Amino acid sequence: MTDAPSHLFYQARAPRPFLSHGEGIYLYDESGKRYIDGSSGAMVSNIGHSNPRVLAKMKVQMDRATFGYRLHFRTHPSEDLAAKLAGLMPGDLDRVFFVSGGSEAVETAEKLARQYAVTQGQGSRWKVISRTPAYHGGTLGALALTGGKLFAGPFAEMFQEMPHVRAPQTYLDRDNLTEEERGLKYADELRERIEAEGPASVLAFIMEPVGGASTGALVAPDSYYTRIREICDDYGVLLIYDEVMSGAGRTGTFLACEHWGVTPDIVAMSKGLGAGYAPLGAVAARSHMVEALLDAGGFLHGFTYAGNPLACAAGLAVLEEMEEQDILGNCTRMGAVLMDRLQGLMARYPFIGHVRGKGLLTAFEMVSDRETMAPLPKEWNAHSELVELAYDAGLILYSRRTRGGVEGDHFLVCPPLIVTEAQIDEILQILTGALDTFAARHGL
Ligand code: PLP
Repeated sequence: MTDAPSHLFYQARAPRPFLSHGEGIYLYDESGKRYIDGSSGAMVSNIGHSNPRVLAKMKVQMDRATFGYRLHFRTHPSEDLAAKLAGLMPGDLDRVFFVSGGSEAVETAEKLARQYAVTQGQGSRWKVISRTPAYHGGTLGALALTGGKLFAGPFAEMFQEMPHVRAPQTYLDRDNLTEEERGLKYADELRERIEAEGPASVLAFIMEPVGGASTGALVAPDSYYTRIREICDDYGVLLIYDEVMSGAGRTGTFLACEHWGVTPDIVAMSKGLGAGYAPLGAVAARSHMVEALLDAGGFLHGFTYAGNPLACAAGLAVLEEMEEQDILGNCTRMGAVLMDRLQGLMARYPFIGHVRGKGLLTAFEMVSDRETMAPLPKEWNAHSELVELAYDAGLILYSRRTRGGVEGDHFLVCPPLIVTEAQIDEILQILTGALDTFAARHGL
């Protein structure tokens, strides 16, 4: 174990060992201790660690060229990856712009939406409505969408926070509505928000189709997704899906939007696209939008590393591996197994209040009362305590304490999509041990 040295500007929740190497769903520290990567890092390492075929393909590109500036050269990896992605995208979402991470993808999506609107003579439209809670990234533009005191903190004065609607946390509602009615109720809050803001000022609505760190794998009722699309169409508001976490296969389909047959106008992706082999993100937009931009002189935007050939070679190799190994199929099958096992924990631990997710974007939430969904006392720091108990026992989890106006502790259990049933049992065994210790410590 070592604390971070003073020359590295770094904060950890607890002292962490040096990483030695990874293999499949496992990571090893320098003492030889093994950890199950139960959160794929931050829902990144979708095909597991040190995949030899991906590494070999990256090596081929490394030996050729690791950089060629996009204004100077076309590169095969970026064009091949764009073509591959276009083939995987639903509808006419087939124009791809590469970036290096999730925040860049979100901001690119916003700028693309805005510039498209301007080309359509709709320069009055600039507001991007987002949900709360949500997480769209750490840069100032993305923070304007994310908002909230947890993330915006002292930076709030430095940007104009965008309008919000509530994320559909229907599991907290105690009303007489059915789930589908609740879905419509939350979706209709978007219509009200657009009306309140003035429809001519609203550019886009952005949402995570399956929530990530902010809501802990929140899935809305089916009715929500279709109604949101209808509302956006009614008002000419562009629909942006932030699939930075939910995309690239994490929920069992390439994009999560496919579960509901809804095609957004723009999609932001990252995380599983490079799958930890390279910093990579992408934005896909509908072709007529991109054509309009190009006709009007081009997209006023760019990053030095956009379309980096090594990153794109890694992304291409990851996609090929996903196809060859039927990783989407495994994700769907193992997602069902994991969901079943996590739901089984509810019988044993009354303080597990809710289990949710899609595919292997899965989470559970701890509460002090399952009926009211009241959270555990804040001073317990349950989200951090359980993570440390599991970490010590060799299981990495990802947790947060946040839930809109009411705070709560949720834990993402999101192993690489190559996980097997036996490995899920291993995860559950360590998790159960950690939960037993937690329960004993707090007299639960
Ligand atoms: N959008 C979502 C849904 C995310 O989960 C994240 C990161 O967790 C981001 C955007 C920001 O991505 P990055 O940290 O790569 O900038």
